[in-house]
Amino acid sequence: MRPAFLGQAPKQLFIDGKWVQPASGETFETVNPSNGQVIARIAAGGTQDINDAVAAARRAFEGSWSRFTPYERQGVILKLAELIDRDFDELSLLDSMDMGAPLSRLRGPGRKRALGRLRFYAGLATTIIGHTIENSASREMLTYTVREPIGVIGAIIPWNAPLTSALWKIGPALAAGCTVVLKPAEQASLSCLRLAELCMEAGIPAGVVNVVTGLGESAGAALTQHLDVDKIAFTGSHLVGQKIIQASVGNLKRVTLELGGKSPDIVFADADLDKAVPGAAMGVFGNTGQVCCAGTRLFVERSIYDEFIERVANFGNSLVVGDGLDPKTQIGPVVSQEQLDRVLSYIQIGLDEGATTIAGGARLTEEGLSSGYFLPPTIFGNVRDDMRVAREEIFGPVVCAIPFDTIDEVERRANATQFGLGSGVWTRDVTKVHRLAKTIKAGSVWVNCYNVMDPAVPFGGYKLSGYGREGGVEHVDEYLNTKSVWVNYA
Ligand code: ADP
Repeated sequence: MRPAFLGQAPKQLFIDGKWVQPASGETFETVNPSNGQVIARIAAGGTQDINDAVAAARRAFEGSWSRFTPYERQGVILKLAELIDRDFDELSLLDSMDMGAPLSRLRGPGRKRALGRLRFYAGLATTIIGHTIENSASREMLTYTVREPIGVIGAIIPWNAPLTSALWKIGPALAAGCTVVLKPAEQASLSCLRLAELCMEAGIPAGVVNVVTGLGESAGAALTQHLDVDKIAFTGSHLVGQKIIQASVGNLKRVTLELGGKSPDIVFADADLDKAVPGAAMGVFGNTGQVCCAGTRLFVERSIYDEFIERVANFGNSLVVGDGLDPKTQIGPVVSQEQLDRVLSYIQIGLDEGATTIAGGARLTEEGLSSGYFLPPTIFGNVRDDMRVAREEIFGPVVCAIPFDTIDEVERRANATQFGLGSGVWTRDVTKVHRLAKTIKAGSVWVNCYNVMDPAVPFGGYKLSGYGREGGVEHVDEYLNTKSVWVNYA
């Protein structure tokens, strides 16, 4: 099973509608985490390539793309969705090989999510409106606002959901009338490169969507520092988010940041446990825990703690861990050797601090798994709130199971974190639901569900989890400027 797209080697940069060599001529390997084998070599873009891509994006923004009406933009976004649907088997295969996610998951909920997002943004392209304002000082002054696209967007994405992350940046940018330079994560660039070709096939003019692959410190940093980039839309770690803010000062470019988390998932004794067990387990083990809003601090009311955690452990142990391409696989590998080392080091840190493993805790090396980067669902017990494993984002299939006694206590502990992305509450008690929905400091509160997404519902962070919202009708606002017009007809 090898996608036809990989026949065109080596992979290059997609700038101004054409495949071009990186100025440095250098490439790097992209590896299949299920077996450690090199899939392809990817072009290592740098400052010169970013300059070329930004220049192409600027030309397109002021030229061909500016002549598209909202209705025409809507048309090409819908066409792109149609092409992604047509080629979804290939795109999902590229993502699964590149970052390990189970193909079955990508082709089921992943497909729905990717297409739903793009079609949602297509709809928004024709809803961009300004206001007429009754001028408070003059009866002979017409005042109104117009909403204009910001300009050239630098989109920087991580590797945990390459295609959907790319669409979450490109979709609103195109709806608003912006142009894009996309920098995929170095671990998983393949589907983004193929997406660039599909944009052209959809009738989106050359230069509107450019893809520059490369390392974060070179291609990524050059994009964030570029003085002709109007906005950076970033998803990734808070440490890189902080660097991006610093790099943006030169031209005060706008920045939106969707960063990490250490999300609390709270289970009360009165919850429907048959739903809460799989919900909480998949809320942290899904995508091998490589989800920014994963429910990694699982607070369970003490009266059901032992029973509940045993059931979560049994559920976790029953999940089939394996090669993303195997149809039976429910949990794939972590993305890279580096990520495997990082998660294993956190497991050791937890043990050194006095936590105990209730499930998992060691690399899987049995037959068929030894050459990939496989970890089992791992549950820590005996966790104190001040431990590093309870405070820092691990980004692997590792959860801290923490008992609590009262709602006051769990409310305080849930919020005792520097992050604020996701949160979960499992209960049948409506008073607990509304109290915690109000007091939890996080961008999403899922009640009797976890990590559910919808393109029409905003998603984003409080505190170190970032700012700006993706999804929801307000998402396109993040790609627009407001201009006020004053017409004195006295
Ligand atoms: P993760 O830990 O999930 O890999 P990162 O924040 O390190 O998250 O990476 C997310 C994206 O940010 C990737 O595309 C990466 O190449 C890019 N990146 C990393 N460092 C920088 C940087 N200094 N400037 C801009 N982008 C960067």
